[in-house]
Amino acid sequence: MDNFDLVVVGGGPGGYVGAIKAAQKGMKVACIEKEKLLGGTCLREGCIPSKALLHASHELCCLKDLRRVGININKMKDNVSMDVSKMMKHKTQTITGLSKGIDNLFEHGGITRIQATAIFEDPHTLSLHQGKDGEGIVKGDRIMVASGSSVVEPPFCKIDEEVVCSSTGALSFDKVPEHLVVIGGGVIGVELGSVWKRLGAKVTVIEYGDSILGTMDKDARIEMTKQLKKQGLKINTGMAVGKVTRTSDESAVVSMTDRSSGKEIHIECDKVLVACGRKPNTETLFSRHFSPSSNASLVLPDIKFAKRGQLIVDEYLQVPSYKHIFGIGDVVDGPMLAHKASDDAIRAVKTMTGRPTKRSEYSYVPGIVYTSPECASCGMTEDEAKALYGQDNVRCGVCHFSGNSRSKACCESVGFVKIVAMKEKTGKGGKVLGVHIVSEGAGEMIHQGMIALEAGMTAEELGESCFGHPSFSESVKEAALSAYDIGIHC
Ligand code: FAD
Repeated sequence: MDNFDLVVVGGGPGGYVGAIKAAQKGMKVACIEKEKLLGGTCLREGCIPSKALLHASHELCCLKDLRRVGININKMKDNVSMDVSKMMKHKTQTITGLSKGIDNLFEHGGITRIQATAIFEDPHTLSLHQGKDGEGIVKGDRIMVASGSSVVEPPFCKIDEEVVCSSTGALSFDKVPEHLVVIGGGVIGVELGSVWKRLGAKVTVIEYGDSILGTMDKDARIEMTKQLKKQGLKINTGMAVGKVTRTSDESAVVSMTDRSSGKEIHIECDKVLVACGRKPNTETLFSRHFSPSSNASLVLPDIKFAKRGQLIVDEYLQVPSYKHIFGIGDVVDGPMLAHKASDDAIRAVKTMTGRPTKRSEYSYVPGIVYTSPECASCGMTEDEAKALYGQDNVRCGVCHFSGNSRSKACCESVGFVKIVAMKEKTGKGGKVLGVHIVSEGAGEMIHQGMIALEAGMTAEELGESCFGHPSFSESVKEAALSAYDIGIHC
């Protein structure tokens, strides 16, 4: 039986970063990960493979668009197509290369890597199962639960990863579907829908709510819907899917009700992507000793789970009744994002090493949709700010990229920057509350907004910073300017 200063369960962007940081601080660390490849959902079946496919499919679109800057590719254009197997090879090579990099970092940090499924036996002990590293027991003075999340299978369908697929399946289609129906117009549905649309599939997005990308600011949702429709995605909102029926080896029917008219609609397709959310992975870790009647773990009776299954932790990411157990990443509250998981992990290790550090302000964490254009957001939406501070106390500044010289020169003048700020009665710009960007490169520019939020900047301070010209980022400055005064090019 081995005893460690810290045992980390899960080798995703939360767990592996936590393990490395703890080793850097001199702790004796083990990381238990059930899968062969380190990197978690993010690396194996999330952020990285989806971005590899988004990049490859975007390259294809760019090539087809070269005519607009005077590159004559008339003949070539007709012959341009995607070799799906080579695109998938690029994806796999990206994943394995990056995962190998984490192996090297573990080796360098002297971290014990255990390939097995972990189950709690008592507050300091985990048993190992079904892994390459066999059965056994590992003890930790501290334990970091970084077990992540997995796909939700809604009651109306059975995911088979052949015709009815999760995001994992949709990242590995061996050919371009004829017609892909995406159930769920959130980030994952919209990103993967875009990939397959760019490669030639007919794509229909079915969304229960009134809009796709429901967590984004309303103006961003409207612009994104317009842009994605322009690219040919069919977007059906206000639809309640009742059933998905697999009709053959290569077809399915998605049955839904239009929530406003009550009309029944049936759509035939050859692939379905079910993108209806993810749930925290607490079942395996606690299940063997779980009592459904009391909704509690028998070996950790005081551990608590939220309604959606998240492990409940305090602001220091510690389980309240077991302060040596930390929960980080998708398994706890907050946005299910890789950078949030890594950030949680580093803060938890700081607390372990004697510098108590609260979790970050989750509303500042940027959320990015890697479509074309990209859509990125941090802080409050206009509606959230007005609901909190009152209609009359909030002012928004918007700068459209159609007035931005760099974006014009780059033929990328779609979208805008929107700054949500407090009004300040003294005439000075109030505090920045939220930043929302739709544009190529929004996923890079949004970090300016995140820093403004973290630093507690006012719209005036941001608007009076001298940005480089010509740059896409000048629109951030101008949007801030129009949130307290009048913009120049907006
Ligand atoms: P995970 O990455 O889920 O890692 C948890 C690990 O724990 C897994 O490897 C699992 O095998 C292991 N594990 C679980 N239980 C046990 C156990 N009992 N014993 C041993 N091991 C166990 N986020 C972004 O920020 N940007 C993006 O662009 C983005 N794109 C995404 C695209 C898709 C298609 C998906 C599905 C997700 C995407 N995400 C993105 C979300 C991101 O992947 C997650 O937020 C992130 O991976 C969470 O990190 P984590 O470390 O908390 O958990």
